[in-house]
Amino acid sequence: MEYIDCAACEQNMNAFIENRLVGEMLWQFLTHVESCPECFEELEIRYLIAEALGRLENGEAINLRSELSQKIKATKRAMYLHYFNDDVLRITEILSMIIVIYEAYGFLSGFFGFLIR
Ligand SMILES: [Zn+2]
Repeated sequence: MEYIDCAACEQNMNAFIENRLVGEMLWQFLTHVESCPECFEELEIRYLIAEALGRLENGEAINLRSELSQKIKATKRAMYLHYFNDDVLRITEILSMIIVIYEAYGFLSGFFGFLIR
């Protein structure tokens, strides 16, 4: 799998803040931001500005820094669960196929065993 670099990461920052990133691109973006201090700092600044501008009028007591890391963690967890569920489905499919084959085999050997007896 090819991972995005800092330039591609920066290009997607606004999309991430506006919740427009999805799928593979979102995953790569989060993975890069988590491992690249420069991009995380840049994202932090953009996030703080975007959120602060939106809330200036409300005068809310805000802790945007922790909100950003929560947003990253929560998004990644949600994606992880999504992929995990896909894996579980695949394993369940394989298991039920094995059970069908096993039962067919059991039926056939019982059938032929009955013939021989
Ligand atoms: Zn970077």
